[in-house]
Amino acid sequence: MLQNVMGKQMDFWLDASILYKAVQLTPRRWLNLQEYQSKKLMADHGVTVQRFFVADSADDALEAAQRLKAKEIVLKAQILAGGRGKGTFNSGLKGGVHLTKDPKTVEQLAKQMIGYNLSTKQTPKDGVKVKKVMVAEALNISRETYFAILMDRACNGPVMVGSPQGGVDIEEVAVTSPELIFKEEIDIFEGIQDHQALQMAKNLGFKGPLQQQAADQIKKLYNLFLKIDATQVEVNPFGETPEGQVVCFDAKINFDDNAEFRQKEIFAMDDKSENEPIENEAAKYDLKYIGLDGNIACFVNGAGLAMATCDIISLNGGKPANFLDLGGGVKEAQVYQAFKLLTADPKVEAILVNIFGGIVNCAIIANGITKACRELELKVPLVVRLEGTNVHEAQRILNESGLPITSARDLEDAAKKAVASVARK
Ligand code: GDP
Ligand code: MN
Repeated sequence: MLQNVMGKQMDFWLDASILYKAVQLTPRRWLNLQEYQSKKLMADHGVTVQRFFVADSADDALEAAQRLKAKEIVLKAQILAGGRGKGTFNSGLKGGVHLTKDPKTVEQLAKQMIGYNLSTKQTPKDGVKVKKVMVAEALNISRETYFAILMDRACNGPVMVGSPQGGVDIEEVAVTSPELIFKEEIDIFEGIQDHQALQMAKNLGFKGPLQQQAADQIKKLYNLFLKIDATQVEVNPFGETPEGQVVCFDAKINFDDNAEFRQKEIFAMDDKSENEPIENEAAKYDLKYIGLDGNIACFVNGAGLAMATCDIISLNGGKPANFLDLGGGVKEAQVYQAFKLLTADPKVEAILVNIFGGIVNCAIIANGITKACRELELKVPLVVRLEGTNVHEAQRILNESGLPITSARDLEDAAKKAVASVARK
C-alpha cells in the first residue's frame, strides 16, 4: 500500500490511472539496452547465446543471413518491450520473431519489420518503431525455462527467480501456478554458492549433464549482473537444445543509474531513441519528466511529492498534465529549463510548483522561477507552494518580483488555486 509523504494511507483517494502511471514510472531507469546489446554483454562474460548480426536494412539482413551460414535463421525485431513473438506490425506482418531456412525470406520479412511499428502486450497501443533487427543462428529448443536475477528491496540484495515453465508470460505463471516459481536469495558478500546454482538448475528441471551446464550459466549470469551494476538480468527463455546445450534465447537487462560513473561504456550504448523527446531533453538537465493527460503542469521535487501533488489536484477536480521531478541538488539554471519544458507543452494551462526544501534551498528555486517567468514571458497562471529551507527569503523574492505569481499556504491551498485558475479560463 502506498503511503504519502506524511505516512498516511492515501489509496482511497488516488486516481487509479495516475497511480498506475506514477508507480510504473517512478522506478524508471533511464538506461535501456536492446536485446542484441544485452547479448553482446552476455557473450563477453562467457554466457551462451546464439551467433548473431544486427541489421538496419533488409539488404543488410540478407547479407547477415548469408554470412551466418546457419541451417536455420531466427529474425528478431529489436524493441525494448517484451512479448515480441506474439506482436503485430502495422505493415500487417504478424510476429516479431520469425524462423526460416531461407536468407531470401529473411530479407522479405526484414522489409516488413524495419521502419514499421510493432505492437505487443507491453508497448503503447500504436506500438514502437523498429529500427534494427537481429539476425541469429536458430537453434532447436527442446525445453524453455525462465531465469532472472534481480536486486530485491525486500531481501536487501540479489535474488534468483526461476521457473521450469519458461518462454511464456512469467506473471501469468506466478498467478496460475505459483508453486512453479522458485526463489533463492544470494548473499552479496558471500556471492553465489555452487550448491545454490545447482539447486536452481534442478528446480528449472535440467537433468543429467545439463544440470551442471545450467548451474555454470547461472553463475556466469550472476557475475555479469554484479560486474555491470545491473538491477535485473532476465532470460526468458533460458532453454535447452536437443543437442544438449543450455542457451540464453532472450535477454533483458536493467541497470542502476547511480552506477553510470563506473559503467561509462555501457551507458554510452544507450540510444534513448524510444524515449519521448521531452523525456530526453529533461534528462539532459537531470530532470525527470512524466507526461499525463490533464492541463495542470506539476513542478515538484521527489517522486512521493509528485504523486501526492497529482492526487491532490485530482481530489480538487483538476487533472495533472505532467510532472517534472527536480530531485535534490538543484541549480537555478535547472529551474529555468524545467519551466521551458513545462510551458512548451500546449496542453498546459496552469503551472503548480510544489517544492519541499529539505536539501533544496527554496531561495534558489524562487530565483529560478522569477528568472524563468521574465525570460519565457510566462502566459499561464503560476501557483507556487514552497516550504522548508530558506522559505522566508524565497517568499520575499517572489513577492518583490512584481510578477503575477499566486502563493499558496500549503499543498491543499495550492491545488485549489491551480484548479480554480484553469476553471476560470
Ligand atoms: P519475446 O517474445 O519478445 O519474449 O521474444 P523471445 O526472444 O523470447 O522469442 C519468442 C519465442 O520465440 C521464444 O519463446 C521461443 O519460443 C522462440 N524462439 C526464439 N529464438 C528461437 C530459436 O533460435 N529457435 C527456436 N526454435 N525458437 C526460438
Ligand atoms: Mn522472451
